Amino acid sequence: MDTDRVVVALDVGGTGMKCALVRPDGVAVRTERHPTNAARGPAAVVGTILDVAVGLADKARADGLTPIALGIAVPGVVDEARGVAVWSANVGFRDVPLRDLAAKRLGLPTALGHDVRVGGLAEARLGAGRGAGHVLFVAIGTGIAAAHVIDGTAAVGAHGAAGEIGHILVRPDGPRCGCGRPGCLETIASAAAIGRRYAELAGAAPDGTATAVTAAEVAERAAAGEPLAARVWQDAIEALADGLASGQALFDVSTIVLGGGLAQAGDRLLVPLRAAVHERMTFHREPRLVAAALGDEAGCLGAALLALDALRVHDHEEKR
Ligand SMILES: [Zn+2]
Repeated sequence: MDTDRVVVALDVGGTGMKCALVRPDGVAVRTERHPTNAARGPAAVVGTILDVAVGLADKARADGLTPIALGIAVPGVVDEARGVAVWSANVGFRDVPLRDLAAKRLGLPTALGHDVRVGGLAEARLGAGRGAGHVLFVAIGTGIAAAHVIDGTAAVGAHGAAGEIGHILVRPDGPRCGCGRPGCLETIASAAAIGRRYAELAGAAPDGTATAVTAAEVAERAAAGEPLAARVWQDAIEALADGLASGQALFDVSTIVLGGGLAQAGDRLLVPLRAAVHERMTFHREPRLVAAALGDEAGCLGAALLALDALRVHDHEEKR
């Protein structure tokens, strides 16, 4: 295999862009980070995305590498077939034809994907789900979203919105979600919700010690035996187990890969969560539950994989 070919890959988030040059075998040979500065509005963000992509392609050529494709991952609702960033709360995209804009600017075949779905793609093919065939990747951070990957392909959905596991109803009388409905999984079990619920309950405590607390700190305090932290953490575990059990009933996967910030809690999350999922399995086969392996590189690697897949389909069609 020729080793001088690379894919330009960008994973665009609300605060930062992770960027890389990725070889066809999935190895990143150069990585960069740039601020998104989403407050400038979507047009300026698109301008930065294109400038950063051009810069990376130029650096590849300067290093004697050949850029063969561009892969971009963005959050929100993404129509991968049309290459359109349909909607995004934190970047502000509304129907931006990002794939065609980028392909025109760089002169490279371009693929546009959803950040969590391409992250799942990378974990399923190169990371913790490698060899599993049927994988559910669940990213738990500010919100909760999932990607169902079958034999290396992530399901997109009819409207580009597959995998919104964070909005499965788990507590009908629970807190109201950002989506408008009460009781969604992410109102109890996202990293943001865990910190928020702990602070709220601590604020109502007699000693009045309400301060901003991260989910990792809640996990730590729970492990140290603090009753309030233990309660909030256990509530999150139970809600997550309900959501994952629903996921397993729908998809019957062999492996569930947990990613996002909360997965960094490691065994404090995985050990009780495995037990809680086990309790909920009746006739369903229990999935293997593991932590993600690629860290925050997953989005970039997945964007590159998506671009390579699109290239292969394109080549195949031309040869027919
Ligand atoms: Zn919701």
